[in-house]
Amino acid sequence: MLLPTTMKALIFLLPIFMAAAKAQECSDPSDFASVEPTGVLDALIIGAGFSGLAAAKELQDQSEISFVVLEATDRVGGRVRSKLEAFDGYTVEEGANWVVDFPGNPIMDLARTYDLNLTQQDYFDIEGPYNPDGSVADLTNYARRLKDFRKAWGRLQTITNSLFLDNGMAPTDNGALALLQEEGWTAQSLIDEFIQWYYIDFEYAQNDVSLLTFPEDAFADPTYFVVDQRGYQFVAEKFAEDRISDDVLKLNHQVVKVEHDVTDGSLDGFGTSEYPARVRVTYYDRHLGTCGQYIVKRLISTVSAGYLAQNPNLFDPPIDSTLNPLKMKQYAKIFFQFTEKFWSDHEFIVTLSDSGNNNGCTHWQNLDTTNKDGNSNSGKKFSQRDFKPGSRILMCTLTTEYLFQVNEDGNVNENLLELLEPLRSVYPNGVEDYWEGSYYYQNLVEDEFFGGGAYTNWDPREGPSVFADYFDFYGGNGDTGFYEGEGYHTESQEWRVQISGTASCFENWGFVHGAYLAGERSARNLLFDLGYDIDTSS
Ligand SMILES: Cc1cc2nc3c(=O)[nH]c(=O)nc-3n(C[C@H](O)[C@H](O)[C@H](O)COP(=O)(O)OP(=O)(O)OC[C@H]3O[C@@H](n4cnc5c(N)ncnc54)[C@H](O)[C@@H]3O)c2cc1C
Repeated sequence: MLLPTTMKALIFLLPIFMAAAKAQECSDPSDFASVEPTGVLDALIIGAGFSGLAAAKELQDQSEISFVVLEATDRVGGRVRSKLEAFDGYTVEEGANWVVDFPGNPIMDLARTYDLNLTQQDYFDIEGPYNPDGSVADLTNYARRLKDFRKAWGRLQTITNSLFLDNGMAPTDNGALALLQEEGWTAQSLIDEFIQWYYIDFEYAQNDVSLLTFPEDAFADPTYFVVDQRGYQFVAEKFAEDRISDDVLKLNHQVVKVEHDVTDGSLDGFGTSEYPARVRVTYYDRHLGTCGQYIVKRLISTVSAGYLAQNPNLFDPPIDSTLNPLKMKQYAKIFFQFTEKFWSDHEFIVTLSDSGNNNGCTHWQNLDTTNKDGNSNSGKKFSQRDFKPGSRILMCTLTTEYLFQVNEDGNVNENLLELLEPLRSVYPNGVEDYWEGSYYYQNLVEDEFFGGGAYTNWDPREGPSVFADYFDFYGGNGDTGFYEGEGYHTESQEWRVQISGTASCFENWGFVHGAYLAGERSARNLLFDLGYDIDTSS
């Protein structure tokens, strides 16, 4: 590993700077100008979701640079967040729940390392579908229409892959619905609407989807559902405990300002001529009520794209939010617990609706079932594990505008009866007799640090170049060849501050593994930038 001698000297000096540092009382964190520097560092990571954790692990494994991770909340994991023992000892996931099993998925590897309880999901193991009046729908054409849809969808993927990925050309991005129509698919019945809803609204949390999203075919690889009583967040906690030093990770540290000296380099920035650090980060310790400042050479921000859009002045100079084409998509789960199980063992209960899922919960996931392709909990193979038998829990998924509407109406409480209506049409007595008001819902849209939604996808009609424009401008992951030297801008301001996080992961935005890969790559960019030889084999 290459370590420049000047940096070795600085590392030697750093503890002296740090020892003198002290956080000050701070009743108004926005008064950052008066805050005393806490210390100087080579690097700082904002956020301890999977992006921030992966970046920290990489910096630690591949270098001796000084750095910290500042996380605003009192926990690691970010949008991987579990509600432990939400009902009678049953844990449910508020955030991410599914892990896609494809070779090289770092999250799947971690799930195996920590023996996370997962079970394979069969999205097409459906009870129903039922008509809106509760009668069983006519399924004569279901198999044929599903095949038609998949054929058209597959053709779009081929077009996107060959034009965009193989030849670097942007297909006209009018969105999937318009192109599906050209390929011969238009929804003509309630069954068709459901198929379309499943592939688009349910999977991508939006009514139409950009072609940019197509390279990731959600149903192509086996997908596993986290059923672990320790919660999905257990993996983040263990990873942080095992792979990141305690003194690096600082919980309850909310970053309130990032000042970036973007002058031509003739000044020393916030540092000294010997240590020309040009980024100053002010934080508020939410636990102690103190403020502090770090002066750093390099910064990786992993806050969500939504948080950036809501807080453009976090950065000075501000991030140009007009460049940000990403919108947070609405996706949430509501868990209902009944006093008896009155439904079947299928993995989903589906009722049809002529406007997607805008008429209450039309799509229920059965958590009270065993996995049918193996003996329950008999072995280590994930697919042989069960869901949560005996739990009497059904999970309803709401996406897009309907979720917004439910949230805007105020308390989800007021909508509970409407949400239950489709289930009641199938099981009037079941809902009447066995639901005593028990439910769990976390409104993530209003969570201060989630950024107004669940995750970002690309809106149709945003050209693919927008991705590169936005993330390359801010030194993100748009240019995947960066750490190999390509696209490297010596002394340019852009690479001093990298915008990372799942939204910046070109291949897998929106996913937890996308978050991990983005963080890892940002850390490698940073080390390359500081003169390290990087091992990219792992
Ligand atoms: C309801 C829901 C369902 C989902 N389902 C799936 C799924 O099934 N499968 C899947 O792969 N993905 C899913 N996702 C997406 C996945 O959870 C995210 O893509 C991923 O966890 C994002 O990781 P990240 O590290 O990029 O960002 P985050 O996890 O958001 O981490 C950012 C961190 O920054 C912190 N932070 C924010 N502001 C500040 C500040 N000012 N100072 C300091 N710290 C700050 C936050 O507290 C947070 O811990 C889902 C998400 C949600 C919400």
